[in-house]
Amino acid sequence: MTDVTVVSCPAYEQVHLARALREALSPFGFPEAIKENMHVVIKANLVAPMRPDSAATIHPELLRVLCDMITERGAHVTIGDSAGGLFNAAYMHGVYRACGLTALESDTVKLNNNFAVREVSFPEAHTAKNFSFTAYLDDADYTINVCKLKTHGMMTYSASVKNLFGVIPGTMKPEYHFRYPKAEDFANMLIDLNEYVKADLCICDAVLAMEGNGPTAGKPRMVGAIIASDSPYKLDLVGAHVVSLTEEEVATIVEAKKRGLSPESYDALTISGDMADLQVEDFEHADGHRGLQFETNSIFGKLMSKAMGTVLTAKPKLCPDECIGCKKCAQICPAKAITMKNGKPVIDRKACIRCFCCQEFCPKGAMRVGRNPIAKILTRTSK
Ligand code: SF4
Ligand code: SF4
Repeated sequence: MTDVTVVSCPAYEQVHLARALREALSPFGFPEAIKENMHVVIKANLVAPMRPDSAATIHPELLRVLCDMITERGAHVTIGDSAGGLFNAAYMHGVYRACGLTALESDTVKLNNNFAVREVSFPEAHTAKNFSFTAYLDDADYTINVCKLKTHGMMTYSASVKNLFGVIPGTMKPEYHFRYPKAEDFANMLIDLNEYVKADLCICDAVLAMEGNGPTAGKPRMVGAIIASDSPYKLDLVGAHVVSLTEEEVATIVEAKKRGLSPESYDALTISGDMADLQVEDFEHADGHRGLQFETNSIFGKLMSKAMGTVLTAKPKLCPDECIGCKKCAQICPAKAITMKNGKPVIDRKACIRCFCCQEFCPKGAMRVGRNPIAKILTRTSK
């Protein structure tokens, strides 16, 4: 039985996408699982109002082909997300327009227009036992998680598991960063959201991925692949492998393994398709992602971990020449650690919880993941 498919797709053209999606999805019973009059909800990654060629959001042509496969079965589709802003019609329709989605609308394909939010109680959760939830997902007979393959300042990597952070309404997201400042807790919160939604199918748009200063200000990087699975955890194991991250470097993978939701390793997966040809060895990772490990069983190791951790931990860093003084970072900072002085943001390092929301939502890419030069040297040689 196939766990994950990886299929080559060299461009966002109908002919390539139709073949790649068919090959990638058929092992998971798609589109046969789609029945007449079903309501299919696609939770796409629409993180910000950005053009498709920025590689920050799902490419509209991929969604078009996917929607065609669904509507041909007599079902209807809603595409939705909550970007990092207001979860209302005015803001989200601007996101849909910028992301090139409005042309997809038809009698059977809708862009979500239900901006209700409800409070969820999820006692079985490991970490997020209560959370706010974008209610349009409640109406689904079949849910598809369509993510983008990207680097991420705080979480190293953004793909299938991270994509479901979009079920938290945009303006509430900083509160969740504040609630779960440690990557381990944040990862468990994301896993809880995935366990709550239980998407029927997970697809990763890795045709044009994002490397470097992701998830919004990185560089587009052609990977040329569609990755699919019925498990977000298995998909992420393969996605990480494609961009040459180790499993230990991705907190959501580590935590999913601890919770028994993911196989012990990539090697335990049954993968169909073109994996061997699609690994990108020189994929540029988010600068701050790689931490240093010390042997913590010894007293020396513990002391070193604490001392070096403070010095070497990645921090948000402003590139003043690129900053336009828009204040968005100060408004979004969950720890209220940013104040504007002389038109530029100044970070209170003691208050900063290193969530990298300021980096994620800076419209100019002026906030970066910064690391101490010593950390760069040490971690480069430790890989
Ligand atoms: S969001 Fe970016 S451009 Fe705007 S003030 Fe902050 S750093 Fe400058
Ligand atoms: S300064 Fe940036 S990284 Fe620090 S808490 Fe605020 S948004 Fe998060």
